[in-house]
This record gives sequence, structure tokens and C-alpha cells, in this order.
Amino acid sequence: MKKSLALVVPCYNEQEVLPLFYEEVGKVLKKLSAGFLTELVFVNDGSADGTLGILKDLAEKDPTVKYISFSRNFGKEAAMLAGMEYAVKADYIGIIDADLQHSPELITEMLYYVDQEGFDVAAARREDRAGEAKLKSALSGGFYKVINKISDTKISDSAQDFRVMKRKVVEAVLSMPESIRFSKGIFSWVGFNVKWISHENRERAAGETKWSIRKLFRYAIDGILGYTNSPLRLSFLFSALCCFLTVFALVYALVRTIIGDYNATMPIILAGIFGVGALILLAIGILGEYLARVYTETKGRPKYIVAETNTDGE
Ligand code: UDP
Ligand code: MG
Repeated sequence: MKKSLALVVPCYNEQEVLPLFYEEVGKVLKKLSAGFLTELVFVNDGSADGTLGILKDLAEKDPTVKYISFSRNFGKEAAMLAGMEYAVKADYIGIIDADLQHSPELITEMLYYVDQEGFDVAAARREDRAGEAKLKSALSGGFYKVINKISDTKISDSAQDFRVMKRKVVEAVLSMPESIRFSKGIFSWVGFNVKWISHENRERAAGETKWSIRKLFRYAIDGILGYTNSPLRLSFLFSALCCFLTVFALVYALVRTIIGDYNATMPIILAGIFGVGALILLAIGILGEYLARVYTETKGRPKYIVAETNTDGE
């Protein structure tokens, strides 16, 4: 029996590029159709333009085109999730942007690695950030440096959502129940055997990027808060600083008192203020530790993910 491949395509106001995308990806899928049952799963993420109309037309002409249309814009993460929830019945599931920045030809290569070479995932890794605004790449660069310093989950700057996965990987991704989703973290967290394929960043074929600086900032915060509890530990750091200042002020007062008739009231008052500060921050830090545990538990992530076993069905 033929294996199946479902490609998830999140679309938000992509009317300019969709016909072109369908044509390009269609060429690739046509070649693949000799060996695979292929399906295109478009997710219309509350577009305000003619995207839905185009998708309906495509679906009418082509039975392998499926569409899921959101009631409003929920963001690319939600669109990918909806697409994967539908597509998980396929043997292989791919994700690709609608704007042709992800070369559809690469799907053939990705599929080869998961189908023939024993990899669980084949994902695109960006070689450069050409075609992106300077400020945007600088901000993203800074963000990835910070998050990789403080997070246990490695989140790669260059890894893209563009990938083909085996069904078990998508099942693992879907087993993460959090509602604030950060795919770069999720894909890294679930692990598995990943084949990285380098991919030149291309210009958008048409239309505009949907990521404003504000949206990117929000995304960065989601990434940091979802994958590390370190910010909650900051108060321990400040508490230690206050402790140090208290001791410093006390020693200062003591030394001045010993060597002369210096009035040590001021440093002693300061020591009191810093001392109280240190205690309060310590208490907040302890609360933070408990909060971190509550937070980790509420995410309800699986405790482990099995890549393979021979105990199935026994
Ligand atoms: N997208 C989406 N919902 C959004 C924003 C973007 O579904 O709220 C889709 C968009 O249609 C495209 C993909 O996500 O297929 C990547 O978006 P975009 O090209 O704007 O991002 P960039 O490539 O600039 O990072
Ligand atoms: Mg794009």
C-alpha cells in the first residue's frame, strides 16, 4: 500500500501568493504521487482577504486539497496545530509556509530522509537571514542567545518550521497539551532523530510578512516563559546582592567606629534597609520556586516520549 504524505500550510492573508504556491507545490506533489498518496491541508488563519475563496476553489477542483478555516486570526502556532491534528493520520506530515520562502522542491529530499534513511524528522535549517530586515535579524539573534543561555531545551536560531515528520513525531508534538505554543521549543523538546537540511532563505514570492516587531516580541516572551523558569529565580540573585550590600554597610560602619568618632548612623540605617530587602527578596524567591513547580506541573507535558519499542500490542 502507498504511504501517505500530508502537507500542512498555514495561510494568513496570502491571496497574492496562494495560486503560485499551489502551482509550485503541485509540481512536486505530482512527482511524488507515484509513490505516495498526497494531501494538502491548508489552514486559513482568519484571513481578511480572498484567501478562503481561493482555498475553496482549489478544493473544488482538487480532491486532495483540504482546508480548515478559523473564525478569526489565532496565529501561526494555532494554524500549525490545527493542521497537524487533522494530518496526523498520514504516515508523513510536512509543514510549509504559503509564501514560497520554503522551496517546495525540498519536500522530495525531506521525504527521502524520513522514508528511506531512517530519520524521524527532516527539517530545514536556514543558512542566512537574507531578505529580512536588519533590525529584525539583530533582535532575533539576541533573543536566541539569551534563551539558549537560560533554557534547558536548545532552541536553534536557524531551525525552521519547514519540515517533514513521521506520524509518531507529530503524535509526540500533539501530546504536549500547552495552549501557549512555541513550536521551535516543542519540536526541540520532543527530540527524535533529526536530519537537518540547509536551506537558503528566499524572498517572499508575493504579499507581506505577517510578523510585526510587536508580534515577534510576544513570540520571544512565549519562548522564554514556556521553556525556562529562570526569570522566577532572579529574586535570589537580587537577594544575594542585598545581602552583600548589608554586610558591606555593616563592616563600613564598624570600621569607621573603630578608627574614629565617626557617626555610623547612616550606614547602619542602610544596612537595615538592605537587610530587610534581602529577606523580602529571599521570600519572593522561595515563592518563585514553588510557582515554578506549579507552572511546570500545569503544563502537563508528557514525562517522556518513546521513540521505538517492541512492546506494542502485547
Ligand atoms: N501565518 C499564519 N498566521 C499568522 C501569521 C502568519 O498562518 O498570524 C502564516 C503565513 O501565512 C505564512 C507563514 O505563517 O504561510 C509564515 O508567515 P510569514 O511569511 O508572514 O512570516 P516570515 O516568513 O516573515 O517569518
Ligand atoms: Mg515568510
